[in-house]
Amino acid sequence: MENIPYHSWLEIHADHLQHNLRVLQTLAHKEARIMAVVKAFCYGHGLEIAKLLYSFGLRDFGVSSVEEGCELKKVGVRGNIYILGGFLPWEAEVVVQEEFIPIVSSRRDLESLRSAAKKLAKRVFFHLKIDTGMGRLGFLPSEFPPSILEEYLGDSLVQMGGVLTHFSSAESDAEYTRGQFALFREFLERHRLSSKNLVYHCCNSAAFLQFPEMHLHMSRVGIALLGVSPTIHSKLTRESGLEPVAQLKTRIKYIKCLPSAFRVGYGGTFTTSRETQVAIVALGYAQGVFRNLSNKMEVLVRGKRARVIGNISMDQLAIDVTEIQEAQEGDVVTIIGEDGAERIEAEELARLANTIPHEILCSLKKVPHRVVLYERDRVATRELC
Ligand SMILES: *Cc1c(COP(=O)(O)O)cnc(C)c1O
Repeated sequence: MENIPYHSWLEIHADHLQHNLRVLQTLAHKEARIMAVVKAFCYGHGLEIAKLLYSFGLRDFGVSSVEEGCELKKVGVRGNIYILGGFLPWEAEVVVQEEFIPIVSSRRDLESLRSAAKKLAKRVFFHLKIDTGMGRLGFLPSEFPPSILEEYLGDSLVQMGGVLTHFSSAESDAEYTRGQFALFREFLERHRLSSKNLVYHCCNSAAFLQFPEMHLHMSRVGIALLGVSPTIHSKLTRESGLEPVAQLKTRIKYIKCLPSAFRVGYGGTFTTSRETQVAIVALGYAQGVFRNLSNKMEVLVRGKRARVIGNISMDQLAIDVTEIQEAQEGDVVTIIGEDGAERIEAEELARLANTIPHEILCSLKKVPHRVVLYERDRVATRELC
C-alpha cells in the first residue's frame, strides 16, 4: 500500500463483494432474488458498491429516498430501484419519470402516484407495505382497505408489483419474527394475493441468514453483502463465509516518546504510567472514528494490536506503540481490517461503542478517500476515487 498517496482511506475489496454476492445467491431459496440495499451512500462505503454490484449483474437495488435513487442513476446504475423509505407528494413525478418502484404506505401515496402518472402519461409500479410489527411505515393489516386491491391490481397506469413487510428484531427475537412472518402470510392469504403474480419480500440480512423459510421471492440484503454482521458478533457472517468488503486505513504521521506521568489528549483522560512511544495518526471523529471509542479501541500496526490512548480529537488520535519498536512514521495503521494474522472488525468497534455495526459502517461516509481494489487473474489493480 506504499503507493497510496493519502493520509487516510477506505479500501473497497471488489473481489470480496463479488464473493459475498455469490454466497448469498447460493444461500437464497430456490429462485429467490437478492435486492441489494444500498441506502445511506451504500452504508458509508460509497456508491462504488452499487456500481460494482451492477457490473456483477445484480438488478434490484433498495434506497431510502428519491434523492438517493437519483444519485444511483447518476452513477450509471439501472434496473429496479426501490424507494424503501417512501416519498413526499411532490416527489411522485420524479418517481414516475425515473421509473423508480416506490414503497406505498397510504392512500395518499397512491393518489399522488396516480396524478403524476396521468400527467406524464407513464406507468408506475409500486410495492405495498404492510406493518406487521415494526411500527414504522406500512398499512396495519387490520386497517388495510381491500378496495385498494380492486382499484390497483388491474390498473394499467398505477400497478401493484409486490407486497412487503419489514422485521424489527430478526437478529434478536426469533419468536417475534416468526409472529411477524405469520401475520404477513395471513395478510396475503386473506386477500388471496398468493395467486396474483406479485413479488413478496420480508427478509433483511438477519432474517435472510437465519430463516431460509422466509426468503419468499426476494430478500432485501444490506449489511451482509458488505460482509458485516447485523449484530455485534461476527459469527453469523463468518460462518456463512462472508468477507468484509471495506478496510479503513491511515498512516502514522508522527512518533514521539513521552515521559511517564504525562497526559495525552483533550481533557487529559489518559496519563502515561511509563515512558511511552506515542504514534499520532490523522484520523479523528470528523473522519468517522467515534469519540466514545477513546481509551477503548485498538488498531493494528505492523500486524500487532495497539491501544488508542487519550480522547480522540477531531482529526487526530494517539496510539501507544511502546511494544511495537519497529513502528515508523508513514506506516499504515489499520482501524478496520486485517494486518498479518490480526483483524479488527466493525462488529468489535460496535461492541465497544455500544452501538450496532450498521452505525459504524455509516460513519465511514466521513472517510475522505476511497480506493477500490480488484483482484483479477491474481494481479491486484486499484482505482483511486
Ligand atoms: C435497511 C433495510 C434493509 C436492510 O437491512 P440490513 O440489516 O442491512 O440487511 C431491508 N429492508 C428495509 C426496509 C430497510 O430499510
